[in-house]
Amino acid sequence: MQAPKERIETLRRQLDRYNYEYYVLDAPTVPDAEYDRLFRELQELEAAHPSLVSSDSPTQRIGAPLTGAFAPVRHAQPMLSLNNAFDDDEIIAFDRRVRERLAQEALPADQLRYSAELKYDGLAVSLRYERGLLVQAATRGDGTTGEDITANIRTIRAIPLRLTGIAPPLIEVRGEVLLYRRDFERLNERQRAAGDKEFVNPRNAAAGSLRQLDPALTAQRPLRFFAYGLGEWAGVEPPDTHSALLDWLAKIGFPVGTQRACATDPQALLDFYRAMQQRRPGLPYDIDGVVYKVDQRDWYDALGYVARAPRFAIAHKFPAEEAMTRLVGIEVQVGRTGKLTPVARLQPVFVGGVTVTNATLHNEEEIHRKGLRIGDVVVVRRAGDVIPEVVRPVASDDDTPRVDFEMPRHCPVCGSAVEREEGEVDWRCVGGLYCGAQRKQALLHFAQRRAMDIDGLGEKIVDQLVEGQLVRTPADLYGLDAATLAQLDRMGEKSARNLVEAIDKSRRTTFARFLFALGIRHVGEEIARILAANYRDVEALIDEDWQALAERKAAVQKENVRRRSRGEPVEPVPLEGVGPEIVAALQHFLTEPHNRQVIAALRQVGIDWSEHEQAASQALTGRTFVVTGTLPSLSREQAQALIRSHGGTVAGSVSRKTDFVVAGEAAGSKLDRAHELGIPVIDEAGLLAMVA
Ligand code: NAD
Repeated sequence: MQAPKERIETLRRQLDRYNYEYYVLDAPTVPDAEYDRLFRELQELEAAHPSLVSSDSPTQRIGAPLTGAFAPVRHAQPMLSLNNAFDDDEIIAFDRRVRERLAQEALPADQLRYSAELKYDGLAVSLRYERGLLVQAATRGDGTTGEDITANIRTIRAIPLRLTGIAPPLIEVRGEVLLYRRDFERLNERQRAAGDKEFVNPRNAAAGSLRQLDPALTAQRPLRFFAYGLGEWAGVEPPDTHSALLDWLAKIGFPVGTQRACATDPQALLDFYRAMQQRRPGLPYDIDGVVYKVDQRDWYDALGYVARAPRFAIAHKFPAEEAMTRLVGIEVQVGRTGKLTPVARLQPVFVGGVTVTNATLHNEEEIHRKGLRIGDVVVVRRAGDVIPEVVRPVASDDDTPRVDFEMPRHCPVCGSAVEREEGEVDWRCVGGLYCGAQRKQALLHFAQRRAMDIDGLGEKIVDQLVEGQLVRTPADLYGLDAATLAQLDRMGEKSARNLVEAIDKSRRTTFARFLFALGIRHVGEEIARILAANYRDVEALIDEDWQALAERKAAVQKENVRRRSRGEPVEPVPLEGVGPEIVAALQHFLTEPHNRQVIAALRQVGIDWSEHEQAASQALTGRTFVVTGTLPSLSREQAQALIRSHGGTVAGSVSRKTDFVVAGEAAGSKLDRAHELGIPVIDEAGLLAMVA
């Protein structure tokens, strides 16, 4: 613990640096919440030790020193900041203070009204109009002196160069310049594409855009403006309440926020606050809270000012959407489909209104792209209902060790190998049949009608079997008895017996169905059929020399190109349709010992996949068909089954690889496509003739 004097100095140094980064460089390094926290700490320390207050303390000053890049503009009326409140009690206290002061000044506190509006998260500017024309625009600067940004302000279309309906000798309009979120994202996309530095948030992008030395650059940034107050004026009588002033500003040509309310008691202010908090995510621009102002403008002088802010207004801030915390670890979770997802474990942090302890990091690449290391201090963002996100690390010179994250090479749940396909970002556990994380998914897939066809084994039952540890792998299904099953929820004795029967019946199946049931990535029904037509058993697949096969395949394909060009008949391509991606997935799956254990266990429990899907002939081997339209006697499924049973392949869409299109009544785009590509079209009779 530092002594108060030292702590105050540390805080001042830190806040001065943050102010400089924020106001001068437009590139803050810490979230606003962190700044606010330190600012409050300093305010409290100074309140407890008044002798240590000095006029150069950040608590006594507004903004940061000017850069000198623009001509200085002295504000005749200072541009102040606002005092902040973070909770309801502070608003109640604010209201009490206002009423007390009004009473002291002999003003009728019982007539007090407030005007509530949004607190736009942009930057304040003062616009000076003489005889109705815009003559000067300035930033807030340090509150007393700002920077002359007239040329840049003139590029903002929302700001009138001439007032509507009035042309008094002088009037200064004050308001906020900001950037819509959508425009901010586009701007950052452009910055990225050009290799320029991205802005941290819309506020800083707006500030950076407004303080461009070249107004042509400012003109390219779609800045917006909302008016909310006045500076000096002469020769005009603005309305004497704030709410009427806003309407008046709208009438003389300024954009004015429409989300507003008037209130006579603090409770109504809090209602406004909550309503706006709800609306916040849907607004096109950022707001960081709402502002309450005493509506009676002629009471302002009596209420007066503190060091850097008026006493007649207060900003009620929303919970910050960004906060700082430590990344204490990265844990890898395995999803139902085997996908490995790194998840950040965070020191609990209050952000966006909730305490966040973890956040998905999506994938390994994301971690490296953001440059995150375990042990880093990080910015965490939670906006609206969006899931929390680790935004970036924050430079910090503490001595916590930093550790680079490495994706495990084995599944953290089951220890099986993990794989990542070329061009993909996600790693996956290949132990699909064995892995605890994938169990439910694997069992449901195994049991589905088009796979092992176990009638009655639905999600509710699978959940109970897995959670009750009755079943770990599909092989365990075959050991279940009716008495055990009858004890499950939603299971009568009869349905338990039926399920045992269905499980038993599934023992006799075809190799194609069995292969599909294993749930190998990329091996759908059609691929399983092609594989089953070419291999007798799992062992044959394991023993295949895939490298040699790929070479043979390439050779045939090359030869076929030559033959086609000469109009000669082509040779069937071995394992047509089974590309390198599928082969890789097959190899990964079948070489994982855990999966082989389960396959062996399935054989042990009597699964017999020798029932070959009757190959009626090989008449159509090597030919690809697309069936479309309504055939006179066969259903589409029957026609497809017929093609397959004669060794043909069925595809879903017409391409250059299609050999025949079987078209019936009302065939549509597929038929057109066949004509376009010059692919032979046959009818049902034509198909039947080919297999006769
Ligand atoms: P402020 O932003 O808290 O409030 C005052 C400002 O609110 C006004 O000057 C005006 O520009 C704006 N405003 C928006 N809507 C308004 C409305 N309807 N009526 C009146 N004013 C309205 O105070 P500040 O002095 O501008 O800035 C301090 C804040 O900036 C801090 O709370 C902090 O969050 C942030 N900051 C962050 C860092 C950092 O490093 N992250 C550094 C410095 C400041």
